[in-house]
Amino acid sequence: MAGEREIVKVFSGEGGNDENPSNFLRQFSRHMLTASITDDAVIARNFINYLDAGSTADAWFADLPAATRASWALIETEFNKRWPSPVQIKKTSAEMQKEICDYQLTEEELEKTVKIGGKDTHAHVAWATKVLSMAQKAKIDQTDIIIWQVRRNLPLVIRDLIATEFATWDDFIKEVRDLKMERIREGLEKERRRNGDILKRLQEIEGRFPVSSQSTGLTPQLRRTFVTPAVQANAAQAARVDPPPRAPANPNPFNVGAGGQGNLRFTRQPATAQAPQTREPPTQAQKDALRRRIDEMPHHPDDAAGRAAYAIQLRDWQTTYGNTRVTENTPFPLLPGTAMICSEECFTCGCHGHKSRQCTAPENARISRNEGTWRSICTRTLGPINQGRAVAINLVIEEYEDSQGNGVGL
Ligand SMILES: [Zn+2]
Repeated sequence: MAGEREIVKVFSGEGGNDENPSNFLRQFSRHMLTASITDDAVIARNFINYLDAGSTADAWFADLPAATRASWALIETEFNKRWPSPVQIKKTSAEMQKEICDYQLTEEELEKTVKIGGKDTHAHVAWATKVLSMAQKAKIDQTDIIIWQVRRNLPLVIRDLIATEFATWDDFIKEVRDLKMERIREGLEKERRRNGDILKRLQEIEGRFPVSSQSTGLTPQLRRTFVTPAVQANAAQAARVDPPPRAPANPNPFNVGAGGQGNLRFTRQPATAQAPQTREPPTQAQKDALRRRIDEMPHHPDDAAGRAAYAIQLRDWQTTYGNTRVTENTPFPLLPGTAMICSEECFTCGCHGHKSRQCTAPENARISRNEGTWRSICTRTLGPINQGRAVAINLVIEEYEDSQGNGVGL
């Protein structure tokens, strides 16, 4: 009986802060050795006593075939498959950061509970726990790296309840994890009321203006399509993907004579006003401020509610800023269905695959000049920070009107 017995903490398999599956396995084996237990079947019988009751690991063990549970060698093999050693799962930090960004919590999930190792857990708590462990694995948990992007992907209700800036992942995750379900429910209720109001206001707006392509700037012949998600291994790789320049296949049918003078004011003054000579690189404070501005103007999805919300954003912008020029302080609404901001998008049509200079989009498929300016300011200041994770948006110009198209209410 030399020395004191090592204490083995029970294992839950839930990726908690201080839980390292490989170390647990080694500890367990040492423990068996110290106790002079060497018989494979006896070790196997002992194993369950080192698993946290009701945990993920406990449930995993219960699900193993009886023959596997009876053999330590087989258990060990299965355990290593289920909880690979850190060496096996080593990934580059960039890949892991992308994974974190992709691991999203949706508004629909908020009121649900998730079973973790047989225990009911609120979805936001489960999300927070998982994301923190991912951040730890990516070794960014003591920094504020990509917190901004991840925060922005959170449901609005959550964003409303937490701070806008965090020094570390620990702070960020703690705030999310500690949110009381009561407050989340209240927020959801408020938001649903607000959405109802928005729809009502849109109907009012549409009552005042002819319901045409006005609200989206698109005609039936034009649509933006979502192409396969741009799942590049990481942003750095994505940066090297150089899409072939768009063939100017379709000299646009809308510009041909018919337009008259009315369109001319939109003539191709690229929204990408090039920086005159040298410009001081933006400071961190300026970048942070701009990110907050982007946050203030959420990019709504291309559905009825999203377009309604967009119409309100546009109207509010007009009310607030009138005819002033777009600057870094006047975030401009983003047209639903267009590319994510700062994703190497074209500042003329809001799609991917080409630069503004090469843009062949006809007038009525373009985004407004204000929006183009806003997008270019953001990209100039922050760089293509969303490039690796944006859904690719291509502009599709259909050659003919479909038969049920009832003409464009021009
Ligand atoms: Zn374009």
